[in-house]
Amino acid sequence: MNKPFSIALDGPSGAGKSSVAKRVAMELGFLYVDTGALYRAIGYEVLKRGGKPNDQAFVEDMLPDINIELKHIDSSQRVFVNNEDVTELIRTPEVSMAASAVSAIPAVRRFLFELQRETARKNNVIMDGRDIGTVVLPDADLKVFLTASAEERARRRYDELIQKGIETSYEDVLADMKKRDYDDSHRETAPLKAADDAIFVDTTGHTLEQSVITIKKLIEDMINPERHGS
Ligand code: C5P
Repeated sequence: MNKPFSIALDGPSGAGKSSVAKRVAMELGFLYVDTGALYRAIGYEVLKRGGKPNDQAFVEDMLPDINIELKHIDSSQRVFVNNEDVTELIRTPEVSMAASAVSAIPAVRRFLFELQRETARKNNVIMDGRDIGTVVLPDADLKVFLTASAEERARRRYDELIQKGIETSYEDVLADMKKRDYDDSHRETAPLKAADDAIFVDTTGHTLEQSVITIKKLIEDMINPERHGS
């Protein structure tokens, strides 16, 4: 079998990475891998065990005890921690903040690295995250950095939470978003940063449909340069 294709999709929270990647993956027959869910799963488990997500010693001690699995069922990703399906439980604002805190711990990043690499070795993937193009898949066939204004990203995340019945206010979501942006891009370990060879796509004011078309075209041009032109 030829080496599978890998697409790295990085960017800040709420830029639309997961919605865009899910759709593009489905239309092109790629596997969509949401790596944020892995950090969320660890954040969730820390909270469940009564720990503090920024307590490095607590988190490191917990790692050997946990087994995280990604299962792809009917083209949607489900996340398991020690056989517990946590897919929905990891979407709360508390777990978002916990994920951001644990993701700054180097041992956590090392722990998740191999799982992410292994998935990309075996499948055509669109992998979304913060350090996919820079650290996890530095040789990805295509790297996209997806972004949008903080206000627009907060609005989208707020609508998502409300739709899921999670009560919150737009102001709180915007404040969390700005804090996570700051923490994610200022941490020492794997800060959020575009790879030098990433293509920037700003989705401010774009519908999901428009973003899907843009990303699909970039991938199709990469796979078939003559047919689609550059
Ligand atoms: O993408 P999502 O919002 O689900 O990610 C949750 C948190 O996990 C982010 O705020 C970020 O701190 C962290 N993360 C990361 N590296 C990734 C994916 C997510 O540090 N590849």
